Amino acid sequence: MKAARTKTPRRPKKPTNPTLKDPVGVYCRVRPLSRADQECCIEVINETTVQIHPPEGYRVFRNGEYRETQYSFKEVFGTLGVQKELFDVVAKPLVEDLIRGKNGLLFTYGVTGSGKTHTMTGSPGDGGLLPRCLDMIFNSIGPFQAKRFVFKLDDKNGVDVQSEVDALLERQRRDALPVPKTPSGKRHLDPEFADMINVQEHCKVEEVDEDNVYSVFVSYIEIYNNYIYDLLEEAPFEPIKPKPPQSKMLREDQNHNMYVTGCTEVEVKSTEEAFEVFWRGQKKRRIANTQLNRESSRSHSVFIIKLAQAPLDADGDNVLQEKEQITLSQLSLVDLAGSERTNRTKAEGNRLREAGNINQSLMTLRTCIEVLRENQLYGTNKMVPYRDSKLTHLFKNYFDGEGKVRMIVCVNPKAEDYEESLQVMRFAEMTQEVEVARPVDRPLCGLTPGRRFRNQAFREELARKLEMRGGPLGGETEEQSVAEMLLQNFPPLPSCELLDINDDQTLPKLIEALEQRQKMRQMLSEDFAKNVLAFKTMLQEFDSSVVSKEHYIQGKLSEKEKIIAGQRTELERLEKKIKTLEYKIDILEKTATIYEEDKRNLQQELESKSQKLQRQASDKRRLEARLQGMVAETTMKWEKECERRVAAKQLEMQNKLWVKDEKLKQLKAIVTEPKEKPERPSRERDREKAVQRSLSPPPVPSSSPFAQGGHSQRLASPPQGPRRSNSCSSISVASCVLEWEQKTPSHKQSTSYARTKQEPEPSRGCNSSHRRRGMCWTGVLEVPRHREELEIEEDHCCRNAPPVRLRHRRSRSAGERWVDHKPPSNVPTETVLQPHVPHAITVTTASEKALAKCDKYMLTHQELASDGEIETKLIKGDVFKTRGGGQAVQFTDIETLKQESPTGRKRRSSPSQPDPLGEAADSEWTDVETRCSVAVEMRAGSALGPGYQHHAQPKRRKP
Ligand code: ADP
Ligand code: MG
Repeated sequence: MKAARTKTPRRPKKPTNPTLKDPVGVYCRVRPLSRADQECCIEVINETTVQIHPPEGYRVFRNGEYRETQYSFKEVFGTLGVQKELFDVVAKPLVEDLIRGKNGLLFTYGVTGSGKTHTMTGSPGDGGLLPRCLDMIFNSIGPFQAKRFVFKLDDKNGVDVQSEVDALLERQRRDALPVPKTPSGKRHLDPEFADMINVQEHCKVEEVDEDNVYSVFVSYIEIYNNYIYDLLEEAPFEPIKPKPPQSKMLREDQNHNMYVTGCTEVEVKSTEEAFEVFWRGQKKRRIANTQLNRESSRSHSVFIIKLAQAPLDADGDNVLQEKEQITLSQLSLVDLAGSERTNRTKAEGNRLREAGNINQSLMTLRTCIEVLRENQLYGTNKMVPYRDSKLTHLFKNYFDGEGKVRMIVCVNPKAEDYEESLQVMRFAEMTQEVEVARPVDRPLCGLTPGRRFRNQAFREELARKLEMRGGPLGGETEEQSVAEMLLQNFPPLPSCELLDINDDQTLPKLIEALEQRQKMRQMLSEDFAKNVLAFKTMLQEFDSSVVSKEHYIQGKLSEKEKIIAGQRTELERLEKKIKTLEYKIDILEKTATIYEEDKRNLQQELESKSQKLQRQASDKRRLEARLQGMVAETTMKWEKECERRVAAKQLEMQNKLWVKDEKLKQLKAIVTEPKEKPERPSRERDREKAVQRSLSPPPVPSSSPFAQGGHSQRLASPPQGPRRSNSCSSISVASCVLEWEQKTPSHKQSTSYARTKQEPEPSRGCNSSHRRRGMCWTGVLEVPRHREELEIEEDHCCRNAPPVRLRHRRSRSAGERWVDHKPPSNVPTETVLQPHVPHAITVTTASEKALAKCDKYMLTHQELASDGEIETKLIKGDVFKTRGGGQAVQFTDIETLKQESPTGRKRRSSPSQPDPLGEAADSEWTDVETRCSVAVEMRAGSALGPGYQHHAQPKRRKP
């Protein structure tokens, strides 16, 4: 037969709810003092608090300092506490959890002699937690236990389930083996231990799942010197040189639980059997301690109870062969080594090292608890050093994963243990703050509950009924025996052989036997008929009961069918609804996709359009810049061109004019002075003119008719006329001013030059330096009173003097009359001071007629200064009659009217001209040339010389 073995599947780590956490349950047990006269340092205050006070000696040692400390626990068990009480409170819930498929860990902690072993194992007549746990487990699952070997633990901490037939075969196979049978029953136990499991209280878990089958496995290990030993391992007995026990390794299973590899796990079916196994391990431990000279209190003992459970099948007869349905839970009962520090023990050499290691294990336990507590309290994520010791590593998943953890702190109240007890209390208090995830409930198998008893009850009832009737079906064996008895009593047939004719015995014997047989046959047939009848009635009864049951069942069935029909219609309705909704969802999804597609398209379009727009904008900007550049360039070009043309035209016109004038003058001269002395050679005449010029400096009435002091009005005195060749007989205002300005590199220079020439009178109050330099800043230009005061300093000045006839100079007493020559395009300025000359003849073009009437000439000229301001220059001159009968103007001064910003900034700037100086100079040139377009000197008898031509030619500083 093929074994239907199933294996537990790899389960993911059980989901743990971080909010569902329970703190480690810490209980305290205070043992009674060994002797009544011992000093006590621990008192039980109430159910949850103990108080420790320093013993006498300690107080003296500490200078009489006396401090009592109280420690609180979940519950405190005093010296009068009994094992049962402790078990009910501490261990019972763990057993209940075990049966419900949850893991649990219970350990005792305390110094040596504090009652850890007493608490865990108990003493004869007073069983501890371990035997009580076992007893409770078997009391609870006793009737529901699986047959031996139905559950099989594998070597990876998992469990298999096999069919009952396979289990039976395995049982038979094992029984056939020559190994000693597992002893069961109390008779094999040491009487000392047997007494411990004699638990009177019949404690059991309520509400055990009766539709499950259970199997208990126990293992017992010892951790000594950080090595794990299997206390149940069957080692071959070697009396001469016993082998030291082999240590075991720790591994993590698929559910992240730690387990001891290759550890013996014994399936036990009763408390006695389980305790016997424990006892075996305990005995081995003792032997090892003796043989290896070990300190028993230095080792940790771990007794592990594993409970495998799986649900019954639907018939309630056999275990369900579904691997997912098996649950394996375990309860670890740990009796820790004494927590005292090494110096307290009298360990030496090897023992000391071992003791140190043991302490190291407990130290690691303390560290782990501390780190866990810190992580949980402060939300840190420190690594918990479980792996630092075998002890903590083995129970890692209890703290990290899930399970119930409980600790019993055992203390001996004697004074000698005071210090150690304090340490124990502190650790215990800290442990209480650690929280462990609450285990999740095992899922239900899904089969109808109560199946085990429903079928069992039916079978029992049938058997009872048959028994009651006493019928042949009451018991097959019974029936068989009656038939056998009858057959056995059936009279045998005597010999039918008639050997003698006179034999009168054989026939009667035969007749008698046959009659007896006939009787028995009748009896049998009667019995048979009776039985048949009984069977028939029973059958009828059964039939009727079956029919009634059938009716009942049918009624129920129809009821259920109705319900099912109702549910089906509901289901159909819901399905329809689901379909409609699915359809709607479909439509919505489609719409959503369409919209999304639209959105994507639009976004793409938008992006492309915006990109295009950006491109266009940048193109536009570029184009604009280019056009602006072009416009500026073209404007500039055209402006220059215009200026050039205008200038050329002007020059041309001037030339024409002058040629005409000259012709007229010559004509006039010929007409008016025909009989004058004969013409001298030109050189001689020139020399004479020069002398005349030098002798007639302009008697400039330089006090301006509109000059005022205290504001930014500059008064400049020009030099005595533009430098020109002696042959030059006529001059234009423009060329005159131009030459004048060109001669001096800066205005200041010209000013100073002019002033040098117009030395003021010392009596006017100017200081010596001013006098020396010919400067006076009173706002009024001092002019020489007499013509004689003027010095002829330079030859060129003399040469530059206009060709005037002094005798034609108008008398000053007659009153000055001005020709105010204002070009028609005069720009009104914002200056407060405005030039106003009384009794002036205002002209827009220089006319000889006007000049003839006046003795003063003023040309208003505007130009853009370098700071962007409009500068109004009033170029003043004296009018002289020429010897030719014409009028000549000799420029004497330039008055400048100009506004300035007080901050010195430019008030206006010309954007089109990057070089304001150049522009100013340029405009100056053009303006001067444009506006002073008329030559004012009219002289007869002098032809235009090349020098004149040269001066009349407009000069451009910038090409
Ligand atoms: P530990 O295992 O902590 O070293 P034990 O359990 O071996 O200590 O106890 C030492 C002794 O004290 C034992 O003889 C034990 O019977 C006794 N003892 C411990 N606890 C109690 C108790 N609660 N009541 C009575 N006796 C106790
Ligand atoms: Mg002990």
